[in-house]
Formats: sequence, structure tokens, C-alpha cells
Amino acid sequence: MDTNKFRRLMWFAMVIVFIAFLMSMCDKAHSAEVNHFKNSEFSCKHCGKIVIDSRLIARLEKLRHELGDTPIVITSGYRCPKHNKAIGGAKRSQHCQGKAVDIKVAHYTPQEVAHFAKMMGFTWVKAYRSWTHLDVR
Ligand SMILES: [Zn+2]
Ligand SMILES: [Zn+2]
Repeated sequence: MDTNKFRRLMWFAMVIVFIAFLMSMCDKAHSAEVNHFKNSEFSCKHCGKIVIDSRLIARLEKLRHELGDTPIVITSGYRCPKHNKAIGGAKRSQHCQGKAVDIKVAHYTPQEVAHFAKMMGFTWVKAYRSWTHLDVR
């Protein structure tokens, strides 16, 4: 192999390594920003099964940020039909499709949480006595 060809090849390899490095940096920055919720937080309280709409997580992240990065406590996420029936949930509950969460946020009333959740794009929001129901139906 002549020297010029070798140099060009080395140069090409360095560019590839550099691009791969940049992409991995972006990935890290991105996930550090959006991963505040663990899948297990959305699981059925009765059997542990998890069904979760990714739009729900994305909007919860936006809401968390909007509320001054206050941690959001998920009191109910996915409910399998059996569990939903046991707790007297609505028959066609969005919880059974992984599209709803009930949450509590320290320092904010359910009404305040509902107000901000609507602005963050949740399609159905309802404030209860001590929690707020949000879904992406
Ligand atoms: Zn269950
Ligand atoms: Zn609910």
C-alpha cells in the first residue's frame, strides 16, 4: 500500500471515530435530560405488568420541568383489567391502555398540577381531592 493511500485511510478512520464520539456525547446529554421516570413506576400495583405510552412519559418530563424540576410521584399508572375492576375504576379506563397516570407533586395542589398538565399537551386532565389524573387518549 502506498503512503498516500494509507494516510487517506487513516484520516477517514479518524473522522469516523470522531463522529461516533460526538454522537455518544449527544446521547448521554439527551438521556440525562429526559430519564426521570423508571418503567417500574408505571407498573400495575397488583401484578407488576407494564404497558406505557411513550407520549405519556415525554409529557410527564415536560411537566416535571415546568414545575421547577419537582419530582412527580406516580400513584397509579398501568392497571390490568383485573386490578382496575378490583379498585372500582371506570370500565374503559385509560389506565388499562397504559395511557393514563395519577400523580402527586409536592408543593402543588391537584388543580395547579392540572393547569400545567393541560399546557404540556395532556389531552384529558382531572383534579381530584389529593391527586391529578392525566392521560393522552
Ligand atoms: Zn395487575
Ligand atoms: Zn387516573
